Amino acid sequence: MAEAGEEVYSSLHANFKGDLLRPGNEGYEDARSIWNGMVARTPGLIARCADVSDVQTAVRASADAGVLTAVRCGGHSLAGFSTCDGGLVIDLSRMRQVAVDPDARRARFAGGCLLGSVDTATQKAGLVFPSGVVSHTGASGLILGGGTGWLTRRFGLSCDNVEGFTLVTADGSVARANSKENTDLFWALRGGGGNFGVVTEFEVKLHPLTSVVLAEGLTPEADIRRLLEFWRDFMAEAPIDLKWHIDLRLAAHTEKVPDKLRGRPVAGSSLVWTGDPEAGRPYLERALSLCSPDSVRSKTVSFLDLQTMADSDFPHGRRYYTKSGFFSYLDDATIDRMVEAVATIPSLNTQIELAYLGGAAGQIAAQETAFGDRSAPFIMNLLANWVDASDDASNVAWVRELFGKLRPAMKPGVYVNFMSGDEQDRVPEAYHERWDRIVAVKSHYDPNNFFRLNQNVLTRKLVIKSS
Ligand SMILES: Cc1cc2nc3c(=O)[nH]c(=O)nc-3n(C[C@H](O)[C@H](O)[C@H](O)COP(=O)(O)OP(=O)(O)OC[C@H]3O[C@@H](n4cnc5c(N)ncnc54)[C@H](O)[C@@H]3O)c2cc1C
Repeated sequence: MAEAGEEVYSSLHANFKGDLLRPGNEGYEDARSIWNGMVARTPGLIARCADVSDVQTAVRASADAGVLTAVRCGGHSLAGFSTCDGGLVIDLSRMRQVAVDPDARRARFAGGCLLGSVDTATQKAGLVFPSGVVSHTGASGLILGGGTGWLTRRFGLSCDNVEGFTLVTADGSVARANSKENTDLFWALRGGGGNFGVVTEFEVKLHPLTSVVLAEGLTPEADIRRLLEFWRDFMAEAPIDLKWHIDLRLAAHTEKVPDKLRGRPVAGSSLVWTGDPEAGRPYLERALSLCSPDSVRSKTVSFLDLQTMADSDFPHGRRYYTKSGFFSYLDDATIDRMVEAVATIPSLNTQIELAYLGGAAGQIAAQETAFGDRSAPFIMNLLANWVDASDDASNVAWVRELFGKLRPAMKPGVYVNFMSGDEQDRVPEAYHERWDRIVAVKSHYDPNNFFRLNQNVLTRKLVIKSS
């Protein structure tokens, strides 16, 4: 692979309307950093596109020169795929337009939008697009991998709410994918990640919602086992209005946390009820019955407050490492292993995140979209989050060791957006029985694997070559 030096710059700069940043240019240092501080790379050129024709120009110039190319929306790839050493970064951060049609309950938004840009615009019309839980995450990366969040059980995955994509494909042409045009591509873009092109616009369905009930509480170490058993059985029968996330971690040293729990292993419960508040009360009370009473709080919050409340817990530039998996059932041995692991967590911000899928997301048949297994209701994400490079080894080792212990009980499959950068061997597992179909779509639209900085689906040609 060539470096994105003079050749790409020269063929771009005459017609490019956006910004072209090279090492040494003002603004380059800020532009090269991505969210995960573990991934510090030095691209040869960052092309911050102003519009679709800039994206086309960048793709063509880079493909002609044979340059390694990364595509960036919010830069939140846990694996660090939205940057590279020496190559080109196609940066969409200037493309953040959102247009809402309140009557049709539809929106179109550009490929550089953050979740916050979409939420702010749609809430002006009292509408929501179901997405993730941190507003500075990029909408493109999240949706293309699937997209789970507070509203997933009520309205489905983010990708389930997309009706059309516009994208620049590997030959630099513009394509549309929806239920009538390029239907194979439409299937693949809903869960297949950034493998097929640069998405420049999403057309999505919206839903009316402006506030929810948010309830939170902490369960002390001695009761975590009972809580997880209760959660496992309770969620199987819970209404789709209820989303209940559990984080196993060491409690923070903050005023919100009762004295006796600070620094101790706890299970943090966060519950969101999207229906009539009165109807939700009995569910929330039962769910919080295993929490320490002085840690419990419940209130109605605006949708925008809900979407931004976790923003400061996951700041840009910290060091992060993750591994993830699905469980169809949390058996007692799995619960025991998780509880034991909390006591050995190497950093205050490192945690085991547990979510229960089901609901609207679970009602869509596995073959309808490229997104992975919808039948396994439990999604686990081991998320290490720390500050000092000197703690890299202990945090990464903790995640790997626990993952190794839990792996035998997992269902095959993994959510691509929660994978790290060292798991290329798990990509076929992520698509499982959909693998042959996704390889066929990739081979058709990107035969030379130009879009390779992602959880990469290898084209048929490349699979044959390497075997
Ligand atoms: C703080 C934080 C919170 C998160 N919360 C959630 C959550 O609640 N739910 C959830 O499901 N996931 C969540 N994630 C995971 C998230 O979905 C992925 O990290 C996602 O890839 C981030 O998208 P991005 O656009 O910011 O990433 P980027 O790093 O910009 O891109 C990620 C990948 O997508 C590709 N890509 C980006 N834009 C485009 C485009 N326009 N066209 C084609 N390919 C593109 C890139 O090439 C790269 O491979 C979270 C991640 C973080 C860091």
